[in-house]
Amino acid sequence: MSSSLPKLFLRKKISDRVVSGHPWIFANELGDHDGSAQPGDIIDLHSYNGSFVGRGYYNPASQIRVRLLTRKADEPIDASFFKRKIQDAWNYRQRLGYVENCRLIFGEADSLPALIIDKFGNYFVLQTLALGIDRWKAEIVAAIQEIFSPSGIYERNDVPVRELEGMAQQKGFLSAPFDTNIIIHENGLRFHVDLENGQKTDYFLDQQDNRKAIEKVVNGAEVLGAFTYTGTFEIHAAHYGAKSVLGLDISEQAVAQANRNAQLNQVQDRCHFEALNAFDMLKQWTREGRQYDVVMLDPPAFTKSREHIQKAVSGYKEINLRGIKLIRPGGFLISSSCTNLVPPHLFLETLSAAAKDARRTLRQVSFQTQSADHPILWNVPSTQYLKFVIAQVL
Ligand code: SAH
Repeated sequence: MSSSLPKLFLRKKISDRVVSGHPWIFANELGDHDGSAQPGDIIDLHSYNGSFVGRGYYNPASQIRVRLLTRKADEPIDASFFKRKIQDAWNYRQRLGYVENCRLIFGEADSLPALIIDKFGNYFVLQTLALGIDRWKAEIVAAIQEIFSPSGIYERNDVPVRELEGMAQQKGFLSAPFDTNIIIHENGLRFHVDLENGQKTDYFLDQQDNRKAIEKVVNGAEVLGAFTYTGTFEIHAAHYGAKSVLGLDISEQAVAQANRNAQLNQVQDRCHFEALNAFDMLKQWTREGRQYDVVMLDPPAFTKSREHIQKAVSGYKEINLRGIKLIRPGGFLISSSCTNLVPPHLFLETLSAAAKDARRTLRQVSFQTQSADHPILWNVPSTQYLKFVIAQVL
């Protein structure tokens, strides 16, 4: 079927990445075009010899010139396409057992590049991170309305990556206004979530299974958590029987919310949070010889660019080295990394190097990734980003 959409052509030599299903086409992979494509348009991508490759959106201002939405020549991109994709994604999450909260759309992994939708009960938070998907915001919102009859939809497009696509940062209601302070449930606990002012979409759903996984190792423990944000790991630790939990985050706002979350779950007598720089405190307390049974580290992504991978690795090594030194023999290190560009093997090697420097041995309890509502597509490596380790420190 030939469509009337603008046409772009790949160069003669097509990368394995594109052949094996990766949806991104970089500037240097494109050859000819028919000249009619405008920024944000849906285009048809053809191979050098003219055969149909896929259909997606185009942005000449981005290094990722095209992101494919479909490889089916007879699939139009229209309102019903988005509704079908969102319904498919919800069916998949339901099948995996998700009911209340989940990442409903995880971009490329749900064949909707640069679109993020998080579901918190009947509230939805949306991010459109590329121009070509932003164009379809109204259709996407209509699809959420039709499928879920939601209590509210909020846009958290206040993220710098939009500027690479020539778009402004913005946030606000995409439905009738509602109270954006909500309470969600996870693993039998409750958490305040501030959809309007929190980081990203405010709640890190990707760690849901990992928070549950700490149950085995925190009973009776003195726990130190660093980079706690609103305290989800720490409150889980207290709930799972930790004797005492101290959480550190540099953000006063996060710490206030974390302390409110401790109260909400009635663990405030055993679990509290302080606004401190974790790098400084880990250093100082190692020097002072403080000891804990469990140290949990969940820092923000250390780099988003390839040139700085080594710096990110040094950052991980430093905090894990200090974390390990703070752990009593036989205690546990619980360490996360969400830096996309640090692959799992490199993160494990870094922990191993940190243990060596601390003259300690790590015995792995578990090594996990993000929860299943953030699916990993094997032909799109960047969909796997979270590394989560529980290890005994001998
Ligand atoms: N564990 C959290 C997510 C942590 S996100 C959860 O599961 O919800 C990373 C956090 O690190 C952010 O809250 C950020 O404020 C904090 N942070 C960044 N730099 C920091 C520093 N130097 N010291 C302490 N916290 C820091």
